[in-house]
Amino acid sequence: MPRLDSDIKLDFKDVLFRPKRSTLRSRADVDLCREFVFRNSKQHYNGVPVMASNMDTVGTFEMALALGQFDVFTCIHKHYSPEEWAKFADENPTILKNVAVSSGSGDVDYTKLSAIIKAVPSVQYICLDVANGYSEHFVDFVRRTRKDFPNHTIIAGNVVTGEMVEELILSGADIIKVGIGPGSVCTTRKKTGVGYPQLSAVIECADAAHGLGGHIISDGGCTCPGDVSKAFGAGADFVMLGGMFAGHDQSGGEIVEKDGKKFKTFYGMSSSTAMKKYHGGVKEYRASEGKTVEVEYRGDVNSTIQDILGGVRSTCTYVGAQKLKELSRRTTFIRVTQQINQIFN
Ligand code: 5GP
Repeated sequence: MPRLDSDIKLDFKDVLFRPKRSTLRSRADVDLCREFVFRNSKQHYNGVPVMASNMDTVGTFEMALALGQFDVFTCIHKHYSPEEWAKFADENPTILKNVAVSSGSGDVDYTKLSAIIKAVPSVQYICLDVANGYSEHFVDFVRRTRKDFPNHTIIAGNVVTGEMVEELILSGADIIKVGIGPGSVCTTRKKTGVGYPQLSAVIECADAAHGLGGHIISDGGCTCPGDVSKAFGAGADFVMLGGMFAGHDQSGGEIVEKDGKKFKTFYGMSSSTAMKKYHGGVKEYRASEGKTVEVEYRGDVNSTIQDILGGVRSTCTYVGAQKLKELSRRTTFIRVTQQINQIFN
């Protein structure tokens, strides 16, 4: 007989922060930097823990350079060659504290990952990203990566439940990527019926990870700065964004003009667009689980990141958190049936 968990699970849109008395005078008083020591690598992190996703239209070298100015992190997508990495690292050595090299779990991926780390030994972060982080093969892959790269900080995912967060941390990962199905160009929930509302996934996974001294990333589902704050409020150590960073100068791809308006193409990493680009098409045994959209061209990403960080700072002043570190402790979410007045949309 199938089992049914009837506890209500929530998304960002289902809650708001309850404001709290505060002694803060202005959002300029809020410190968004966090410091972490990672459980398995023992490496130290210091920065603003927002991350650009390792999608090929988001996690570009250009994005890393722009976000690095704000001490914000970029998971670089896996399609750059070791030579391109070496050139990037030569020209910008200081940026490496805020970037990860990404890899899938195939043998070809692993060979390339090893070649990149050989070419750029000072890159400290490895992002192991698969659509389904529940497979035994992936756990073995995390173990192998930990063994071969004992001092690198390993990001691994994606999963949405506490027991799998624990398994990946105990297998050598430091930071677990949380999110199945919330993404702006993801169709997993439609194609497979699998998923977990993101706010609840973050609350539950953060609890599991922190209990072991590990960390988590809330990956996907943020549509506005308020959602980024909610992810931090729910206990995420990092918040990863795809769609919110799409459509900028730094987002890769060409600008196309339609009816006098400018657009950029944005697509899921398992959309048919991505599969055609990198694998010559959608394999017959699998469905594409991502879509392709045109997003309005938004210029330089600088103003977008300022808007996001300004929003998170402002959340902190509403709940009396002087540091981002205090935000989840100061968070009381209230469940809502409506969060914004739509009259002029
Ligand atoms: P967003 O910030 O756009 O809501 O979500 C970004 C996240 O969506 C990515 O970091 C990644 O985890 C996920 N994602 C990217 N491409 C795809 C895809 O093709 N299919 C699925 N299921 N998820 C995707």
